[in-house]
Amino acid sequence: MRSGPWAGIVVLSRGTRRASAFRRIAAAAGAPPAAEWENTVTRPRILVVGAGFAGVECVRRLERRLTPDEADVTLVTPFSYQPYMPLLPQVASGVLTPQSIALSLRRSRKYRTRIIPGGAVGVDLKAKVCVIRTITDEIVNEPYDYIVLAPGSVTRTFDIPGLVDHAFGLKTLAEAAYIRDHVISQLDLADASPDPAERAARLQFVVVGGGYAGTETAACLQRLTHAAVKRYPRLDPHLIRWHLIDIAPKLMPELGEKLGRSAHEILTRRGIEISLKTSIEKAGPDEVTFTDGRVVPTHTLIWTAGVVASPLIAALGAETVKGRLAVTADMALPGYDGVFALGDAAAVPDLGKGEGAVCPPTAQHAMRQGRHVAENVIATLRGEPKRPYTHKDLGLVVDLGGKDAVSRPLGIELHGLPAQVVARGYHWSALRTNVAKTRVMTNWLLNAVAGDDFVRTGFQARKPAKLRDFEYTNEYMTPEEVRAHVAASRAAQ
Ligand SMILES: Cc1cc2nc3c(=O)[nH]c(=O)nc-3n(C[C@H](O)[C@H](O)[C@H](O)COP(=O)(O)OP(=O)(O)OC[C@H]3O[C@@H](n4cnc5c(N)ncnc54)[C@H](O)[C@@H]3O)c2cc1C
Repeated sequence: MRSGPWAGIVVLSRGTRRASAFRRIAAAAGAPPAAEWENTVTRPRILVVGAGFAGVECVRRLERRLTPDEADVTLVTPFSYQPYMPLLPQVASGVLTPQSIALSLRRSRKYRTRIIPGGAVGVDLKAKVCVIRTITDEIVNEPYDYIVLAPGSVTRTFDIPGLVDHAFGLKTLAEAAYIRDHVISQLDLADASPDPAERAARLQFVVVGGGYAGTETAACLQRLTHAAVKRYPRLDPHLIRWHLIDIAPKLMPELGEKLGRSAHEILTRRGIEISLKTSIEKAGPDEVTFTDGRVVPTHTLIWTAGVVASPLIAALGAETVKGRLAVTADMALPGYDGVFALGDAAAVPDLGKGEGAVCPPTAQHAMRQGRHVAENVIATLRGEPKRPYTHKDLGLVVDLGGKDAVSRPLGIELHGLPAQVVARGYHWSALRTNVAKTRVMTNWLLNAVAGDDFVRTGFQARKPAKLRDFEYTNEYMTPEEVRAHVAASRAAQ
């Protein structure tokens, strides 16, 4: 905090006053010219953690609605893009290139947010300091006045022997690109192997999770292998087997009875073996044991059985609801000044559904919550009342590849081509930048005309790349470690 004759003016700027008023007061007090004091003044510091749907929408809204003099906005993110997660299965199946769904954070000169390349590993909510591990593994402290926590979620795992060592997740662009290479390499290895048992094992694939992520992944990848096998004349196409399993009694129950059945029929017709009320008992490097006793020889286990809030949330030591941070309907954390959370990481009450309901972890909510939380941060900054978040679900779209899809926009049940038009139209319009829209559309057209290609890039070959390697879940500090670290840093200053 500044001292001397500027202290009073600085305190004014941290409240609700606009920059023009600030300049007038400063000039009357004989302050140096604007350019000079702009470098010395302390503005309120807004720190946003996570550049997903929620974080990026929040930052863009803050940039638009606040003047540069009103607040400093900083974003912590390990990557320089926003991943458009719902299209990950299409990257895994090669329909889209990874770059086409990586929305640049530096696309426009108007973007003035300072970006710290790294991940938050803990937050001292009392001291108002976020501890960050940068991409060069340095630990830095970032003080804030307002913090918006939007670190999303990680793959939910269970205590199943071998799971984290042998399964792939589908939560990051790197995982999607890796899975594609891995699946194609299974065809290459099977083709080259003289051993019938190895061939059979390499050509079996298991996807766990019958929600939209798992169902789309199984559907899109099965299409890829079905098309690819025609280029391997030595391989018997009948050896290719895809399993989709889920502990629930139905696929995608959120779609409703009729559409869920329709999706089930489409997948079964394509040869995907669906096993419901089934999970896995253990996973090994070359086989998976199902809970119904079957042992499936395979080198590919894709685990998409739900998500859980980022481990950053547990590192806060605050109240949670099923792992998500318990916030009020205006997305503020009760008991802590200037702390907001949203998206997959937070249990935001779903006022549209009534008492006790929380918003599901979907992009649809995360984007809208991002814009809404920005308005609430601005309201707090200006001493105005915050508004509760409400949104009525617009429905669900599920792209099963090619002309196959099921969707329920605004409660209207669609399947086949109309559903596919709605699914792709929805995702296309939700892509935030024109360059991403162009890339995605071009990829779709190219794929429709030229079909799939089966190139294995080999970028990650020979590197361990299973669930435990991709999601960095061991990087976080405990609340005690965060407090001790912040106190020690302050004492050393
Ligand atoms: C395969 C798949 C398909 C999906 N399909 C749909 C769909 O069709 N419709 C739909 O509505 N939803 C869909 N979803 C869900 C949707 O993608 C999520 O609900 C949405 O991405 C949540 O947004 P978010 O901003 O909370 O988190 P995310 O979008 O996950 O963003 C979080 C960001 O924070 C970053 N981050 C993580 N930890 C830290 C940290 N410690 N410090 C700094 N940054 C951090 C991450 O790198 C990430 O960029 C799908 C999800 C998946 C995985």
